Amino acid sequence: MENSTIESNVLEQMMLKEHEQVVFCTDKATGLKAIIAIHNTVLGPALGGTRMWQYENEALALNDVLRLSRGMSYKAAISGLNLGGGKAVIIGDSRTQKNEALMRRFGKFVDSLDGKYITAEDVGMSPIDMEYIHDETDHVAGLPTSLGGGGDPSPVTAYGVYMGMKASAKKMYGSDSLAGKRIIVQGAGHVGQYLIDYLDKEGAKVGVSDIFADKIKEVKHKFPKVDIVDSNGIYDEAMDIYAPCALGATINDDTLSKLKCAIIAGAANNQLGNEAKHGQIVVDKGMIYAPDFLINAGGLINCYSELEGYNRDRAMSKTEEIYNTTMNILIRAEQNSMPTYQAANEMAEQRIEAIGNINKVL
Ligand code: NAD
Repeated sequence: MENSTIESNVLEQMMLKEHEQVVFCTDKATGLKAIIAIHNTVLGPALGGTRMWQYENEALALNDVLRLSRGMSYKAAISGLNLGGGKAVIIGDSRTQKNEALMRRFGKFVDSLDGKYITAEDVGMSPIDMEYIHDETDHVAGLPTSLGGGGDPSPVTAYGVYMGMKASAKKMYGSDSLAGKRIIVQGAGHVGQYLIDYLDKEGAKVGVSDIFADKIKEVKHKFPKVDIVDSNGIYDEAMDIYAPCALGATINDDTLSKLKCAIIAGAANNQLGNEAKHGQIVVDKGMIYAPDFLINAGGLINCYSELEGYNRDRAMSKTEEIYNTTMNILIRAEQNSMPTYQAANEMAEQRIEAIGNINKVL
């Protein structure tokens, strides 16, 4: 491959985390450079969004798509969905390099996999891009309602986070009521604002931080009771529950030396800076960490519902099951003296293995 910086051990990397297939896509006419990674299709077709990002080099893009696709296998498995895990990355600047031809060419690559990979929206992609991809393939989820899709998945994601948070409260306090609890939501974006709505209605004492003044203004207008927390000082605040709904890796050495909350439950992906290390510190500090890929699965559940013929009520009731699954994970972690992320990973792996065994029999 011309100008390739991808290391020569791609197959070894795939073997290490048990990826099934990685597809490299290039097209000179449109300038498309993309990688589609299919991690595991034991439970069903691999579903996961396409991320467009200006990676510094191809090795970083490959690393990201391998990591993200594996994460999708776990998310689908633990949510009880008949889906595998996949993800795609397009290398480039989404603000300057996106156009109809590029998206449609990418759509043709997705189509060539014949439904083994189903794409959706992720960072750097917008609804119009999904429409272009849809012009070339039916294997797209997360479409606007006008095209028979489920529209913005954020309200469903927020509901799942709310369910996971309530289950964590039940385990920590003996009651799942969040009334009177001081909860700080980090990030007043799509998911954050829907979550604030649930918390505010339940009578929680909600604080919110965001780095953009317009978001803060929006929240103040919609939820007058909510108070604003400085985004730099958030980890020093007194709170019962910390809800990361902005970026990943906010649970790390630095923040854990300050955080004094009882529960961490939010929508952001990959919250633990280092799973093994920070997952254990959280346990040692007596906090409950609701695994991110479990409680933020509402968006994926919403996409899954599209494949069956979209029904918002069904997506919401499936998302409500996150309450019981979270409770099961918290109990399992406690009984086995292990961090919650590990209990969640094991539960996902066991479901993939069990269903895989059934398929072998058939
Ligand atoms: P979004 O971009 O709409 O919102 C993120 C918000 O966080 C923005 O308002 C941004 O200004 C703010 N922010 C960024 N850095 C911050 C900081 N340091 N402190 C405080 N605020 C900060 O994104 P979203 O769709 O609401 O998703 C939120 C998180 O949840 C992301 O990590 C996303 O990957 C994850 N997630 C989202 C969904 C979904 O359905 N949208 C599903 C699963 C996971």
